[in-house]
Amino acid sequence: MIKSDFNEYPLSSEVLKAINMLNFENPTRVQALVIPTVLEQKDIIVKSQTGSGKTAAFAIPICELVDWDENKPQALVIVPTRELAIQVKEDVFNIGRFKRIKVSAVFGKAPFYMQEKELKQKTHVVVGTPGRIIDHIEQGTLNLSKIKYLVIDEADEMLNMGFIESMKTIISSVSKDRVTMLFSATMPRDIEVLCKRYMKEPTYVKVEEQNPASERIYQERYTVEQKDKMKLLRDITMVENPDSCIIFCNTQQKVDDVYNEMASLKYTCEKIHGGMEQRDRVRVMKDFKQGYFRYLIATDVAARGIDIDNISLVINYDIPQDSESYVHRIGRTGRISKEGRAITFVTPYEGRFLNDIHQYIGKEIALKERPDKEAVSDSKQEFVEKTNTTPEIKQTKGAPLSKEIMKLHINAGKKTKMRAVDIVGTLCNIEGITAEDIGIINIIDVSTFVEILNNKGELVFRELQNMTIKGRLRKVSKADM
Ligand code: AMP
Repeated sequence: MIKSDFNEYPLSSEVLKAINMLNFENPTRVQALVIPTVLEQKDIIVKSQTGSGKTAAFAIPICELVDWDENKPQALVIVPTRELAIQVKEDVFNIGRFKRIKVSAVFGKAPFYMQEKELKQKTHVVVGTPGRIIDHIEQGTLNLSKIKYLVIDEADEMLNMGFIESMKTIISSVSKDRVTMLFSATMPRDIEVLCKRYMKEPTYVKVEEQNPASERIYQERYTVEQKDKMKLLRDITMVENPDSCIIFCNTQQKVDDVYNEMASLKYTCEKIHGGMEQRDRVRVMKDFKQGYFRYLIATDVAARGIDIDNISLVINYDIPQDSESYVHRIGRTGRISKEGRAITFVTPYEGRFLNDIHQYIGKEIALKERPDKEAVSDSKQEFVEKTNTTPEIKQTKGAPLSKEIMKLHINAGKKTKMRAVDIVGTLCNIEGITAEDIGIINIIDVSTFVEILNNKGELVFRELQNMTIKGRLRKVSKADM
């Protein structure tokens, strides 16, 4: 029976509260199919696109089913890219917020020892990219003995990226006594074989997009010589004047070139590609999601699965050389049934790629004439006005959940042998505070961060100014969320 209301599922009040505060009104189709199956501890294969709500489809039952008291990881989510690892971590964290679920993300190019430290603490869910997960398994820093839920997300993309053997290694390292969920937009043979070999009588569901990206999104193309692309980009951005736009290029070098050119023309822009420091990639994605700048110049690292509201325009500065990539790129606009626009630049020598895309999406992308001088000059004033306007900064998705939560910093940590139990013991001595009001506790070398739930942060903050923790008065301050 397909349910149309989250309240009809056997979910705890903590999980339902988070769903409600994230403004998920009704389950999406993929959620209606996946949530009950996983709650019954059955394996499932899901053929569906991103943007269908599939992260929450596995995050909701996982957050519900994990045992809070168990310290070792119980769920492992494998994703193809670092950006996706961070995003999925945040989504699981938000849904598990009131159940105090601890989620860690492990991915390459970020310091190993930091992840190792995090994994030593209580962790319920680990999200990671295949290479780094294997590194942690080999180093003995990721304990898989208690994993009961295994998610393979974007399986076809992992196959494309050459991760098939890594996936097999990881799956074989997890106990057979588990629930396996596999999500993939397409079902190539290697993935089918993987499912057969590693899954137990899986339920197979196919979620057709009601209104697929290729129909929902208004698509156009321009024929342009390579050397004239920048001029065309300037004209189009002036006429279109988007609030938020991704410009895709095929190589890191091209991203750098286009970015340098646009930055010198005073566009509010940033860039992202695989050659950048991970820290910068994380910052750029976060700032773009919040609307700090309007133009993001990117390689395909930003094409898959990345969930950003309200991107009004996608420009393929270079036509993608495989058709699937085209659909993923344009799918960054027009998310969850919103309308969007996508423009593709095609040089006269790229007809083959264009034909492939036409075949793949089952229709022709409309060929447009370049905007004429008049149209460009008519748009100039509005364009300049928008460029000079301070953008409106959007809240992060989890912000509504944080409203009733305060994070406190305590000036003592591992080095002074602080343990979670010391914190909980002290806080529960405050009148009006119970264990239910204490959220995630993170103890690092010389600091401890503790979240206070249910609007009781101020009370705890006040009381801790005069209370001892582990026999001593500690410096306690409010921390950034
Ligand atoms: P995903 O397919 O996991 O990338 O999700 C796409 C977007 O849909 C994300 O921004 C989610 O926060 C949002 N979302 C997921 N489930 C729901 C729901 N039931 N109702 C509304 N939005 C949702």
